[in-house]
Amino acid sequence: MIGRRLRYVAVDRRTECIMSWLIKCSGHLTNRVTKAANIVGLLNAHRDAQDWFRCGCCGGRGYIEKCFKLQEEGEYWNPYLLGAVRLSDNPENTYQPFAFLVNEDSPSQAPDAVWFSYYKDLRPHGGRLKLGYGPGGPPVVALDQLAKLIP
Ligand SMILES: [Zn+2]
Repeated sequence: MIGRRLRYVAVDRRTECIMSWLIKCSGHLTNRVTKAANIVGLLNAHRDAQDWFRCGCCGGRGYIEKCFKLQEEGEYWNPYLLGAVRLSDNPENTYQPFAFLVNEDSPSQAPDAVWFSYYKDLRPHGGRLKLGYGPGGPPVVALDQLAKLIP
């Protein structure tokens, strides 16, 4: 699934993607970026009521570009993250699963895949914040593949 539709990216986008949670405006403020310090802040403060990422500048929708080098030589996976859905009912749990809503081609199209991820936040207990995702981690599942689970 990962790399289903590979695109080759320019060096500047790769460099940009190393920086973590930068939310770009989907509206008219196309050069505006809002930064979330970490995954907890991103999910708590940068989503709207429908779980889409929110532009900090205009309050409209936003998106995040990510970039991962694949095992295949010279190939990259460049998903657009459009939103995220929390899967845990209890915000007090240290283990917090969630799913990114992804489009692999464009930030202006509807999601076509779901990327299961989680974080574990042990900072209140003197530990670390750990994010579990990425190629080699949780799977990315196309929406039509996910539908196979429902029966
Ligand atoms: Zn905006």
